[in-house]
Amino acid sequence: MPGPSIVWFRDDLRLADNPALRAALERDEPVIGLYVLDEESPGIRPLGGAARWWLHHSLASLADRLRERGGTLVLRRGPAGRVVRETVTDAAAGAVFWNRRYGGHERDIDADLKSRLRDDGVEVASFAGSLLFEPWTVKTGAGTHFSVFTPFWRACLGLPTPRPPLPEPREVDGPRRAPASDTLDDWALLPREPDWAGGLRETWEPGEPAARRRLRAFLADDLDGYDRARDEPSAGATSLLSPRLRWGEVSPHTVWHETLDAGQGGRFLSELGWREFAWHTLYHFPELATRNLRPEFDSFPWPRLKPSLLRAWQQGRTGVALVDAGMRELWHTGYMHNRVRMVAASFLVKNLLIDWRRGEEWFWDTLVDADDANNPFNWQWVAGSGADAAPYFRIFNPELQAKKFDGDRHYVREWAPEHLGDPPPTPVVDLGESRKAALAAYEHVKRAA
Ligand code: FAD
Repeated sequence: MPGPSIVWFRDDLRLADNPALRAALERDEPVIGLYVLDEESPGIRPLGGAARWWLHHSLASLADRLRERGGTLVLRRGPAGRVVRETVTDAAAGAVFWNRRYGGHERDIDADLKSRLRDDGVEVASFAGSLLFEPWTVKTGAGTHFSVFTPFWRACLGLPTPRPPLPEPREVDGPRRAPASDTLDDWALLPREPDWAGGLRETWEPGEPAARRRLRAFLADDLDGYDRARDEPSAGATSLLSPRLRWGEVSPHTVWHETLDAGQGGRFLSELGWREFAWHTLYHFPELATRNLRPEFDSFPWPRLKPSLLRAWQQGRTGVALVDAGMRELWHTGYMHNRVRMVAASFLVKNLLIDWRRGEEWFWDTLVDADDANNPFNWQWVAGSGADAAPYFRIFNPELQAKKFDGDRHYVREWAPEHLGDPPPTPVVDLGESRKAALAAYEHVKRAA
């Protein structure tokens, strides 16, 4: 069927290495970019506040870049299945292309839409754009999926090398008359009254050009020292690519190949492997954000929630230096260093005995890189209920962690300087006693196993 091609952008807000966009350009009809803000389809998790902030700016950047090349980005809001079909009708489009998503509800929506569009005589195709390895291609010898990282990653590395990235198109010809579009301001993604995004603005520049610059700067300046310094929160030694990968401003294929071109990257690339592992786990276990991956954890005796303790943790007022510093970095910047995420999460789950789901929800709302796979996956990893998780009984001691990874106290000085005072704040729980209580609670899990 002739007529314009729609590229339905989702978690792939970029022009370079975008297989769906490439397919549309090859079809040789006008191209319409579409983004749908879907807050209505059942099972689709509404974005958190920090993510909404990022999305606003990343869409603004994508729209500019499409416009510069002759194209257009149409913004619409509503249940995606309905809205995409309406846009096809309004634009008299002949084809729709997208890069795949891997969450359960998202896949259902996409599969249903695909078959309806085909019934309508519209060409539809989906592509691999967000993961290096498609989840159904990575299997154990017995044909099942992996639950342990090391053999998972070994199996991935035994598959054909991820394809090289596709070039960025110079021209994207739009239609003579674009279908109606919302404006970004209609969506009110940015916080107002209060505008709490000052720290995010200071810290980040969303959009594809900044993502590419960040990758290049990391590879030139920090890749060599990554293995040594990646665990030190004040070293600035990690790539800060997580929100860029989350929104697809840069593809994992681009990161992969540019890293190899820079000459190395074993440890760094295996971190990308953890990202793959989290998404593959979500693909096989769609309820990752709400259900324990290991069912024996269903019998964990969580005590009744004390809201004041949860609030102390959220606000970075637990009296434990590294936890407080991390939680305030998160609140201010929408980001927290990985080592500190592990310590802060462990403190919530194992010292405050608060269900990992409460922590996951807070991170969902406050992280600029929060996504449906990595956030719950890592929370379950810390809680002991997840895939290849840290054994429950290995409980981080936040003071020893601080000594080891923030020995000069730069990080705590930056984010929670009152801990350097005399006397320092008093912890809201005793670390030794709360550790014992956590181990006692764990006995229930062992009995259920
Ligand atoms: P780098 O060290 O430069 O790593 C490069 C890339 O590898 C990252 O950008 C990321 O895509 C991937 N990566 C690194 N570590 C992990 C990991 N443990 N799991 C999965 N992928 C990883 N990461 C998210 O992207 N989104 C989340 O919502 C998220 N929530 C987390 C929650 C908790 C409780 C914990 C302990 C970790 C979480 N992480 C999450 C993983 C990790 O903390 C971040 O990916 C990392 O800190 C991002 O910084 P970076 O880009 O500088 O990482």
